[in-house]
Formats: sequence, C-alpha cells, structure tokens
Amino acid sequence: MKKKLIAIGLSAVMGFSLAACSGGGNTATTTAAPLETTAAEAAGLFKAGTYTAKATGMKEMEVEVVVTDNEIVSVTLLSHGETPGISDMAIEVIPAGIITAQGLGIDAVSGATITSGAILAAVEDCLTQAGADITALKSKGLAAAAQEADQELETDIIVIGAGGAGLAAAVTANQAGANVIVLEKMPKIGGNTILAGGALNAVDEGSETAASTNDSVQKHYDQTYEGGDKQGDPELVQILVENAWDGVEWLQDMGMEFQEGVFTVTGGMWPRAHKPVDPVGTGFFNTYSKYISENGGVEIMLNTEAIEIQKDASGKVATVVAVGETGNKVIVHASKAVIVATGGFGKNVEFRQEVNTLWPTLDETVKSTNHAGATGDAIPMLKALGAEFIQLENIQLLPLGDPETGSLSGNIEHDVERRIFINKEGKRFVNEGGRRDEMTQALFEQTDNYMWIVMDSDCYPTGDVKNNFNESIDELIAQGRAVKGDTLEELAEAMGVPAENLIAAVDGFNASVKSGEQDEFGRTLYSTPIDTAPFYAGARVPTVHHTMGGVRINAKTEVLDAEGNPIPGLYAAGEVTGGIHGANRLGGNALTDTVVFGRIAGAQAAANN
Ligand code: ADP
Repeated sequence: MKKKLIAIGLSAVMGFSLAACSGGGNTATTTAAPLETTAAEAAGLFKAGTYTAKATGMKEMEVEVVVTDNEIVSVTLLSHGETPGISDMAIEVIPAGIITAQGLGIDAVSGATITSGAILAAVEDCLTQAGADITALKSKGLAAAAQEADQELETDIIVIGAGGAGLAAAVTANQAGANVIVLEKMPKIGGNTILAGGALNAVDEGSETAASTNDSVQKHYDQTYEGGDKQGDPELVQILVENAWDGVEWLQDMGMEFQEGVFTVTGGMWPRAHKPVDPVGTGFFNTYSKYISENGGVEIMLNTEAIEIQKDASGKVATVVAVGETGNKVIVHASKAVIVATGGFGKNVEFRQEVNTLWPTLDETVKSTNHAGATGDAIPMLKALGAEFIQLENIQLLPLGDPETGSLSGNIEHDVERRIFINKEGKRFVNEGGRRDEMTQALFEQTDNYMWIVMDSDCYPTGDVKNNFNESIDELIAQGRAVKGDTLEELAEAMGVPAENLIAAVDGFNASVKSGEQDEFGRTLYSTPIDTAPFYAGARVPTVHHTMGGVRINAKTEVLDAEGNPIPGLYAAGEVTGGIHGANRLGGNALTDTVVFGRIAGAQAAANN
C-alpha cells in the first residue's frame, strides 16, 4: 500500500521523556556516548539491527525500528496507550512517513501532536542507537521522497472515498460483477465512519425487538423527517428507513456481528440503534476489507487524492484525476460510472464559517469530532460539473465533544436513558433525550459552554467496563478524562460544582424515573435511577459532527444539476449528499445512510453503461 504524510503543523519533539532501551542484542540508552563505528559501518548510514525505545505520549509507548546499513526498513509500535480515534492517524502516518522519507523531518499530525512527537522521539532514540546522523535525518522530510511515475488506469467504476458509503458502494458494485477502483486521500480507510460510536438505526418490523420497543418503520420515518424539521426529501427519508434493516442483514451475511437488542443513542429519540460487536466503526471496515480481500475486483488506492472529475466527449462522467503519494498524477477512466463518497466538511473551518447561519460561531474555537480528511473536497469538483448543492447551512453539532480535542472518544455515556447533563452550577438544563440541535443550543447557553455527563454504577458495574469508544472507565479516570465519587458529594467535589445542586438535580431526575412522567425539560426517556455508588462524571463541550447539507441526489443516488436533471455517470452517497437529514440528523442515522445509499449507488453504478 502507498504511504503519504498528511500532516499540518510543527512537531514538538522536545519535552518527551525518553527511557532507556535495548535493541537486537545490543544494549544502548539515550544517554550513551556516540557509538564507535567500524570502517565498514562508516560507509553506511546505520549499524544494521533491530532497536527498541520507549517514549511518553498520552501514555508510555514502545517502538521498534529495523535498519539495514542504508535503509530504515520498518517502524513498529510494539505497545502504546494512546487515545483511540484521536491518535490513530498519527500511528498510521508518522511511521509511514519516516519510511517513505527515510528521515525524521516529519510534521506532526494535526490534532495528534503528542502522539506524533512521542513516536518521532522513540524512533530518534532507536536511530541514535544505530549510530545515525540525527541532524541529517531531521533535515530529510517527505519532500525528499522520489516522485513516482504518473499512472493511467481503467476500470468499470471509480469510487472516491474509502469511508462507510464508499466501501458499501464498492462492495455492492463488485457483488453485481463490476471492477472498482477506490481512491482514498488518507493513508487509511475509514473516514469519519470508523470514528463513529457504532450506532446504526434500523427497524426489523414485526420482530420481537421492534414489538418490545413499540417501534416501526413508520415511527423511524416520522422521527427522521420531523426531527429534521421536514427539510429532508420525503422520498429519500422513506428509502433510508425502509432499507435500513435489509442493510443490517446484508452486513450480517458478510460476517458482521451486532450485539443483541437495541439502544437509544444521543439524539436518536428512540431505542432502535444496533451496536456492532467490534469497537467504534471498525466492524464495518473489517467486514468490507474481508469481502474485498476474499473476492478481489476492488482496488483501494490510499494516499491518492481526487482533484478533478471529468466528462467524456458525450457528456458522461468518465474520468477522475488524482494526485498520488509522491505528487505523481493518477488518472483513472471508468467505463460505467463515478461514485463520490468523500464525506463532509466538518474539518474545513473556513467553509463551515462561510455557510453557517444557525450557530453562534463555527470558527476554530469550536472543535470537531471529524477525521482530518473531512474537508469538503468534493464541493468544488462537483460544482464544476454543474451539480446542485442544498442545505449547506445544516451543520450538526453534538454536546458530546472532548474539551481538549472535540473528539467523541472519552464520552462515558452508554445510552440516553441512564444519564443526565449537569452544568458548571451543578444543575440540569435540557431534555437529555431530545434533539441534538436543541441539546447543543442549550449547551451554548451554559457557563463556558461546558457540561458534565453524570451516571451511576449501573453503567459501569466494574472499572474495566468500556464506553462506546472502547475505553474503560478506570482508564478514563486515570487519564483525568472522567471523575468518580463514592457519594454524590464526592462526585460534586471532583467536578467542582455545588454539591447541594447536584444532589437536588439527581433527586429530581430519580423522582421522574419513578413516576415515568415527562419532566420540566420535556424528558420522557428513562430506565433506572442514578442511585448506586460509585457515581461517574465526564466533561463535554459542543463539537461539529455532521454536515447534513451537500450535493443533491435522487432516489437512484444520481447527482442532480440545478434543473433537477441527473448528470450522466455521476453518483453520490453518504455525508457528501444533502437533503436526507434536513435541519437535524437523528442520532444513529448516519451509519444507516452510508449503508443504504452506498448500496444503492453501487448497484446503480454497476447497472449503468
Ligand atoms: P461517509 O460517512 O459519507 O462514508 P466518511 O468520512 O466515512 O464519509 O468517508 C469519506 C472518505 O472520503 C474519507 O476516508 C476521506 O478521506 C475520503 N476523501 C475525502 N476527500 C477525498 C478526495 N479528494 N480524494 C479521495 N478521498 C477523499
């Protein structure tokens, strides 16, 4: 696979503690005097061998580096305790960048500078042990990598973006007999989808689960359409809800496993979210990757960024121009169709500011749950083809961002029913079972736009129980990302809020749980009271999550122009599209969107000539 660094900002390598280390039978430490070299070694760059070193990022990590006389062969993280989601990109990108550049002049990955710096520090340590000229290596960055030759390729279908919708489309097109090339600009597949908590809304109409939750496809439709202030296209909403369960069965047929039962995800309004067995969004990608490796016919080109989509002489979309890892040109021609599945623009601060009309601000002070590649690249490319964009101002924020990073990781809630939101004054302030936009608007009105999610041991019977982001509560407490109290007074002290207010808020909530009646904030979703120690709290802030506007499509996922006519050969699915979720997306509907509309795009593209 290709490798390329997608990184912004300067790494602060200094300040990371380095521990003594050993490698390949040699013993060396960071404080050791320069190694004596033989004449033969002096001719090479390194003393060949396997070296290990430790450094501290979010936690301690151990890195192994293998070198020959003249080459850095591999960089492997033997162990680490970095935060999932936030640090994934650094763990992918920094070692890959070092190998590609054959140097240490690699920029830190934006949003993961600590992890990036720790990896670089540990590799530097290993290379010091190998007798390398570190100053020379630090001046070697990716620009030094030799440019590969330009490529021109042919296939049936091009998919731009290897996130949830792109890979659902690629797999479906392949199942229909088409060959597919997937262009992915990042060094890994997954996009925003792999960072998602994993909740997928789908109603198995007539099943025991649907009966026990009093759910129906019609209710899913009503909550999606009305929850989006009726701005979604009713036809597309209908398609979403009607095909959701079929999508789950399609995934299960390919081996994907879901946990028993359903739960209510934040802003989901109803218990209808299915949770994969594999953590966060990885289950989808494990499933798609397994299919692809077993069946062939789908080639994923990583580090390959689409920059232009072209029509042929007949006006049909047929070619994508991309830039490969080393700046080389990659031109791909498709005999059938091009599917755009590039995701949203939550990480493009300038553009979200330009289109924002609904939020106090969406400038850089508001962080995002999104991966670094969610920059809305497809918008200019599609506009150049005459595509229409709708509802770009509909940007979803969540009240669930990590205060430091905006990430969803570290969120301690399991489901809506068993937790409350508490502001800095120790008080509840909103219906925590309500719409995402309403909860976030309310959070913007609280002191410092800051709140705590509070729950009891019902969610964490033991300290090793994990949240929806594969982190145990003990781990989060140790990292200072959650607090615990054996009494509510103790919890209030750890949170820094007035104890009497927190106790009154919890008492009031527990009374509503008992009565089952709608409370003063309009809340109706309850299960168990918050009454069993230990009690837990985790801080959260508003964060940009999903851009609900996008390119206009029809029921076949054909991209439409301003007159409502399909642009021949051009399809789109997933977050890049607009008009499904309206003004506010129901929690749990994004993954459903990727599966349902990704499959439609794949099938339609395969049937296109
Ligand atoms: P969705 O949920 O709609 O599938 P994701 O965010 O999961 O969206 O995936 C979108 C993918 O598209 C990401 O992996 C992203 O890196 C990729 N992508 C975005 N722009 C480009 C581009 N210009 N060329 C290639 N891939 C792109």
